[in-house]
Amino acid sequence: MDHFNFKQGELFCEDVPIKNIAEKFGTPAYVYSKATLLRHLDVYQKSLESLNGIVCFSVKALSNLSILKLLDEHGSGFDIVSGGELHRCIKAGIDPKKIIFSGVGKSADEIALALKVGILSFNVESESELKRIYQISKNMNLKAPIGLRVNPDVDAGGHEYIKTGKKENKFGISFEKALDIAKEYSNKSELNFLAITCHIGSQILDLKSFKNAAEQMLDLANRLDQIGLEIKIIDMGGGLGVRYIDEETSAPAELMEIYQDVFSGTNKRIFLEPGRSIAANAGILLAKVEYLKNNFLITDAAMNDLLRPALYKANHQVVPLLEQNISHNKVDVVGPVCESGDYLAKEAEVEIKEDEFLAIRTAGAYGFVMSSNYNSRPRACEILVEGDDFRLIRQRESHDDLFKHEIDLLK
Ligand SMILES: *Cc1c(COP(=O)(O)O)cnc(C)c1O
Repeated sequence: MDHFNFKQGELFCEDVPIKNIAEKFGTPAYVYSKATLLRHLDVYQKSLESLNGIVCFSVKALSNLSILKLLDEHGSGFDIVSGGELHRCIKAGIDPKKIIFSGVGKSADEIALALKVGILSFNVESESELKRIYQISKNMNLKAPIGLRVNPDVDAGGHEYIKTGKKENKFGISFEKALDIAKEYSNKSELNFLAITCHIGSQILDLKSFKNAAEQMLDLANRLDQIGLEIKIIDMGGGLGVRYIDEETSAPAELMEIYQDVFSGTNKRIFLEPGRSIAANAGILLAKVEYLKNNFLITDAAMNDLLRPALYKANHQVVPLLEQNISHNKVDVVGPVCESGDYLAKEAEVEIKEDEFLAIRTAGAYGFVMSSNYNSRPRACEILVEGDDFRLIRQRESHDDLFKHEIDLLK
């Protein structure tokens, strides 16, 4: 459920007509609904209460400072995958004790910064990384909180690029290896083994994969208990899929029923790292139709604004700002970038004239964060809607922004 709906035939975000936003701030523009973001966060948080857990929003899905602050105010924790995301969280005033650091390639500088500010936990993805963290904490005379990212080896379906839980992926450590590592390193006073974690993929539609992974994680926690290496937290990662077109999806509440069922008897705290299922349908990309050409709608938004179609062959639903412009006539919505992969939606059911606006739905997650300046296109602005109010939370880039880091050798 989201807050982008037609009211008397006109598309609204919460209580704001989308057209007002397009006219005030121009296009392309990302528009987010505060109520939708908070609603999803709330569902996860409420169901985690009985499991003594916290939601660590996946910052890479949507990382605007205002959004991070908003989620922080409402009790969210955060899962980051880079030093840049750590800096963002610090800038947003987030308590480092609510930050988990995931990712396969943490640099020495990133580890040192995370240790210095005192994050909640490192989700460690290899023995080499653990060795590095150990060495750095020894040098800094600090104790490192550790979660071992393990690999339950489940194939959760979805696009090859967003599968992460299979043996052949670069992510995580096998269960056997995790047991060995825990035995070998747990007596080191510089390391504090807190958690086991997993993240089996993204846009997962089949809840059985989550159940399978949860059971395996509980089993591993029990095996660690048996050898006296008790951990306090089982972190199940993110991954729940959302509806882009007509996918059969499950609500966060249904996923939570599975976790409540599997983990009801354990004393471990259960953590989650959802990204897409909180942010995706809380955002749209607003664009203007520049030209009609054959069966194409050419918009002022392009693959540099929304990369998912070009990167994953993803399809997004397109809606007009006036309900009367929904049509059975199918068109492809494409951008001005010089690539045939530059499309935003295939077979969109709309009939929209030149100079009118359209909305590309479900663009709140992995939307703006993946945008680039390809074709020297300034990045879009971002707007947050709250009730009948809407505010800019990121300015549209200027043309000067495009070359401000370049050094003119011929000057
Ligand atoms: C990307 C990522 C997530 C979020 O995944 P979603 O599919 O957006 O819920 C969570 N944890 C880790 C480690 C990730 O890399």
